[in-house]
Amino acid sequence: MDPVRQFFADNALLPHGWGRDVLFTVDGSGLLTDVSAGAERGAARHLGRLVVPGMANLHSHAFQRAMAGLAEQRGDSADSFWTWRRTLYDFLDRLTPDDVEAIAALVCSEMLEAGFTTLGEFHYLHHDPAGRPYDDIGEMAGRIAAAAAATGIGLTLLPVFYAHGGFGGAPPTDGQRRFINDPDGFARLVESAGQHLDGLAGARMGIAPHSLRAATVEEIGRILPLAGDGPVHIHVAEQTQEVEDCLSWCGRRPVEYLLDSLPVDARWCAIHATHMTPAETGALARSGAVAGLCPETEANLGDGLFDAPRFLAAGGRFGIGSDSHIHIGLAEELRLLEYGQRLSLRGRNLLCDPGAGTGESLFRAAVSGGARAVGQPVDGLQAGQRADFVVLDESHPSLAGRPVERMVDSWIFAGDRSCVRDVHVAGRRVVADGRHLARDLIRSGYARVMAGIIR
Ligand SMILES: [Zn+2]
Repeated sequence: MDPVRQFFADNALLPHGWGRDVLFTVDGSGLLTDVSAGAERGAARHLGRLVVPGMANLHSHAFQRAMAGLAEQRGDSADSFWTWRRTLYDFLDRLTPDDVEAIAALVCSEMLEAGFTTLGEFHYLHHDPAGRPYDDIGEMAGRIAAAAAATGIGLTLLPVFYAHGGFGGAPPTDGQRRFINDPDGFARLVESAGQHLDGLAGARMGIAPHSLRAATVEEIGRILPLAGDGPVHIHVAEQTQEVEDCLSWCGRRPVEYLLDSLPVDARWCAIHATHMTPAETGALARSGAVAGLCPETEANLGDGLFDAPRFLAAGGRFGIGSDSHIHIGLAEELRLLEYGQRLSLRGRNLLCDPGAGTGESLFRAAVSGGARAVGQPVDGLQAGQRADFVVLDESHPSLAGRPVERMVDSWIFAGDRSCVRDVHVAGRRVVADGRHLARDLIRSGYARVMAGIIR
């Protein structure tokens, strides 16, 4: 355990707005024990002039980072999510545990440089290329944990239960063989994954039934106790074909069917939830579940637009993830979330809270919803939360000379990860001057992997 430490920020974005002269006290395990505005700096370490909380990236399939940009050519027939998925399955045949660890380390380092301080890994690549479990069924989970440990990012691991190739328990396809477990095998996987997280400070675990296509509601009910008090994530209503398949199978739409069939509450995170009727949107908001939005991936895959104005008006909570990692950017994800609405509704500042700018409104909402979705008991810069600090570079051209109250708007709409100067996780600095401390090592390891697997 480290000794108690103190940090100081000239300005810090606290849960209820900006505070000036903020003193942070951090205990030996890296948790904030006190946050006081209007304080003297004393001997505290100076973080910077502009400090905002770290955000969780609540939805990731780390290995997909390695195929970003490789499915952007037009095929023979109309391209769609489903043709992208065939490229994915082809790519999957080549990945070893060492490859996955190196790719995940790159993803974690890029997330940290963007301002994300927790990875929510929706982890479904479990078995060897022939579909056989490794000697340790949690081998791949261990590799995700190792990447998190090597980079310093916080980890919430969400082992995925994946059993079928379509609604109603349809058999899986050959391309899905590395994902498949029955409920008993999944229980062993969860147990092993938990052991891999032992010793990883602050790590949490939940579970992720992949989707209503890949798991029946009976199976989901059976595995739910394995989540303990951790989060439960599920992909739902990402694609219109999924909605049509669900309707023709059971007469209900995916979100409707999910809410009717399972005890969805604030522990749950509905990933995408793109295609909902107004009634479903209201019901999902009232359930307390977080909507896990991935605007850049949803745009890349041609999924559709989430009805954010209606969901937020109904009191819904959301967080963001970079999912396929077609690009890893905190500012860009939030910006695209707003821009999708502007393009569709032909208005401006559509996801803006009263009294705050749109960028800051989105940022604060995603910090809060993201924390809930990765199982953190509190969010933002307050006592009880991990001491995750993101220090913005006030000399960056997109931020220079702006009033503090417009800084996050300027970062989200006019900036990118180059606005992030330093990042601390649990009070420990892992990004300095925009670079992860192990960037060179991680990038060279990743480049070696890619030289071996791209054909
Ligand atoms: Zn996903």
